[in-house]
Amino acid sequence: MALIVKKFGGTSVGSIERIEAVAELIIRAKQQGHQVVVVVSAMSGETNRLLSLAKQIDERPSARELDVLLTTGEQVSIALLAMAIVKRGHSAVSLLADQIGIKTDNVFGKARIQGIDVSRLQQELEHNRIAIVAGFQGRDTEGNITTLGRGGTDTSAVEIAAAISADECQIYTDVDGVYTTDPRVEPRARRMEQITFEEMLELASLGAKVLQIRSVEAAGRYNLPLRVLSTFKPDSGTLISYEEPKVTSRTVSGIAYQKDEALLIVRQVPENPSSLARVLCLLAEFDIEVDMISQINHQVGKIDYALTVHSNEYAQALDVLNSNLVALGASCVEGNAEVAKISAVGVGMKSHSGIAGIFFDALANENIHTLLVSTSEIKISVLVEERYLELAVRALHSAFSLESRD
Ligand code: ADP
Ligand code: ASP
Ligand code: MG
Repeated sequence: MALIVKKFGGTSVGSIERIEAVAELIIRAKQQGHQVVVVVSAMSGETNRLLSLAKQIDERPSARELDVLLTTGEQVSIALLAMAIVKRGHSAVSLLADQIGIKTDNVFGKARIQGIDVSRLQQELEHNRIAIVAGFQGRDTEGNITTLGRGGTDTSAVEIAAAISADECQIYTDVDGVYTTDPRVEPRARRMEQITFEEMLELASLGAKVLQIRSVEAAGRYNLPLRVLSTFKPDSGTLISYEEPKVTSRTVSGIAYQKDEALLIVRQVPENPSSLARVLCLLAEFDIEVDMISQINHQVGKIDYALTVHSNEYAQALDVLNSNLVALGASCVEGNAEVAKISAVGVGMKSHSGIAGIFFDALANENIHTLLVSTSEIKISVLVEERYLELAVRALHSAFSLESRD
C-alpha cells in the first residue's frame, strides 16, 4: 500500500465523460489498497476562456482580480469529480487550496507556495475519504487568493505530495510520459522510461510544458519521485528521479522549443564596461525578464546587444528601450516577435564532445539560420525564425537519433 498524489490536467477532466473515467481510475487505485489524494486542474480551455473574459474588460486587468477569476475554473472541476466519485458509492470531498492551508507569497499570477497545513488532509485520509484538491491556487498572508502561474497544478500536486510525505506524485495528462520532444511536433518522438530531475528541469525551462518548471524544481528539492503518465492509457509512464539512465550512450535526451520568445536588438551603444548593465537594469526596473543575451561589435567603440524576452513583455520592452535611446546612447532598437528558441538537452553532453557540431550541422543541412546561441553544461539553445521551428525540431531529433535510442 502506498500514499499517492494523483494530479489530473485540463484535458483529463475536459468533459463529463472524462471526469467519470477519472473517478473510476481513482476508485481502482483505492481498491488496490492505496491511499490517494487528488489534485485537479480546470477543465481544458476554461482558464483561457476566463482570461479572455478579463481581457475584454481590460487588456491589463488587475492582477488580484484576475487571480480571483482564474481560480474559479478549478472549483468547478473538483466539485464535479467529487460528485462522480460519491455517485459511485465512495466518499470524496472537494477542497479549495485555502481549506487545506496552502499559503503563498503575494505575487499574483505567479505566487510561490510557502507552506501547507496538512491537518485537514490527514483528517480526510484517516476517515478514508478521497480529498480532491483544487490545483493552481493558494492564499497569501493577507487572505488574498493567488495563482501559481500557468500549468501550476503540477506544482500544487508536488508540494502537497511532499507535505504529506507521499510515496510518489503522479501527473496524469494527455500523453503517456515525457517524450524525446513534443509528440505534437514530431510524431516519431519516443517516450522515455526514465529521466533525471536535472534533465527534466532543463527541458521544462526550455519549453517542454508537460511539467511546470517549479514542480520539477520542488520534486527535486524534496527528492520526491515524480511520474508523468496517461489518463487514457494505463502504462508506467516516465519516472523522473535522481537515478541516471543505465544506457550511458545517451548524449542528448530531448529537444525542447519555446515559441513565446521575442528578439530585441539595441544598436550601436557606445562601448564601455557598464553599457550592457544599463540596458539590463532598465528592463529590470519594469520587471522585464531577459533570457538570451549576445553582443556584436561591428565597429570600434560601438556595440549591438541582442536580447530575448517573453513575448508577453515584448511590446513593453520595445517601448521602454525606444523611450531611453538617448540615455543609452543607442542609435535604434529593432525587434522581432516571430522567433522561437530550440534546445537540445542531455546530461551526457558533459562527457561527450562533438555534440555542438552535430547540432549546427543538422540546422545547416536544412539551411536554417541561427539568430542567437546559448549553451550550458547540459544544453545548447538557438534562436531561429519561428517559421523554421518544426523543421528545426525534427532535424535535431533525427540528427541525435532520438527516435531509436533509449
Ligand atoms: P495538462 O493539461 O494535462 O497539464 P499540458 O498541455 O500542460 O497538459 O502538457 C501536456 C502536453 O505537453 C502534451 O500534450 C504535449 O503536447 C506537450 N509536450 C511538450 N513537450 C513534451 C515532451 N517532451 N513530452 C511530452 N509532452 C510534451
Ligand atoms: N488551469 C491552470 C492553467 O490552465 C492550471 C493548470 O492547468 O495547471 O494554467
Ligand atoms: Mg500542464
